[in-house]
Amino acid sequence: MSAAKETDRKTIHATTEMKKLMASHFTELAEAKKNGRPKVAWCTSVGPAELLHAMGFLVYYPENHGALLGATRMATEFIPAANAVGYSPEICSYLTADVGAYLKGVTPLTKAYGLKEVPRADILVYNTNQCRDVQDWFAFYAREWNVPLIGVHTHRNIKEVKDYHIADLAEQMKAMIPVLEEVSGNRFDIDKLRETVALSLECTKLWRQVLECGAAKPAPLTFFDATIHMAPAVVLRGLPQAIDYYKLLLKELKERIANSVAAVEGERHRLYWDGMPIWGKLRELSQQFMTLRTNIVASSYCNSWIFDAFDPAQPFESMARAYTELFIVRDESYKEAYMEQWIKTFSIDGIIFHDARTCPNNSNSRYGMPQRMGTRLGLPVLVINGDLNDLRCYSEEQTRTNIEAFIEQLDEKRSC
Ligand code: SF4
Repeated sequence: MSAAKETDRKTIHATTEMKKLMASHFTELAEAKKNGRPKVAWCTSVGPAELLHAMGFLVYYPENHGALLGATRMATEFIPAANAVGYSPEICSYLTADVGAYLKGVTPLTKAYGLKEVPRADILVYNTNQCRDVQDWFAFYAREWNVPLIGVHTHRNIKEVKDYHIADLAEQMKAMIPVLEEVSGNRFDIDKLRETVALSLECTKLWRQVLECGAAKPAPLTFFDATIHMAPAVVLRGLPQAIDYYKLLLKELKERIANSVAAVEGERHRLYWDGMPIWGKLRELSQQFMTLRTNIVASSYCNSWIFDAFDPAQPFESMARAYTELFIVRDESYKEAYMEQWIKTFSIDGIIFHDARTCPNNSNSRYGMPQRMGTRLGLPVLVINGDLNDLRCYSEEQTRTNIEAFIEQLDEKRSC
């Protein structure tokens, strides 16, 4: 077996099914644009997708497209086109890659699924729970296509979620209904919303169980696997297909656990990853950790699609709670306590913080958290400087060296 093969991730067989699901998701969107129905709503990845499904929209997620631009390494090429029309290289590189690709008339969806262009929005719906960039991102397309832009403004940087946060957000969601009715041509039906919230709840429970498999020793999946297999939780949440898929994946992972099948052969160290993935370098990083017999078994990022609060009995309030309880919405004290819990449950030996240049919202290393957590938990910590999409902000050589030194530190700690 060649060296390259030895460092490849072990195939998860459910991936074949996931690829089919993603293909049919995009084909359905393309068909809808051809036929003019159903209408297409663009939604932020942790936005109120349930409401849009319940109103009869097909839902498209530009962040998924941003990640695809990153993973296919097209992003760095297109970002300058967005910079040229005034979007700073310092803002979200999902935004700049996506807008740049649009301006160039290119999308990775063509090669992957045969779409000529991204499915144009009939309406754009954002939630600022993650950042303000999404509002500005969607505003670009609202101007471009002259379609409605609506959204909700979530309280951010909060420690405890209060009833007034929830009441406010639930009202904001309800206030969107008249515009959604007008664009979709459908009347709002609370029972449909309850059904969709119930489907999202089921999906999120299964996704949590998938991620919790990482607590097994050896772990049956890696962070790099999870960044791929989270796709249905992001783009098919609220639909039955996502539930069927996670049942299939979970079965496979449980079989791996029962048979002690390690995702990383000879697993020696177990790490926690905080921050965005570096989409264009997933493969290289995965291979390096595989070689070092180190598995990143848990992450704040993949946990972002666990929404424990969904409750069909209280659809608006529970959506408001689910989308406010998120890690990214919370203050540092909450984030540290949250991470600590996962770190203990997953028997973590060290923490990696990714400081993504263009995403301060999902970079938690800028206000002393790595130092505080390292000291409190007695764990080695590494901060990687990079970016989710803009590879000009990432030094492969430097990162490789830093990771090697970090693993040596873990080795030394173990031998003490
Ligand atoms: S959270 Fe970060 S990566 Fe996501 S849209 Fe906002 S700025 Fe971009």
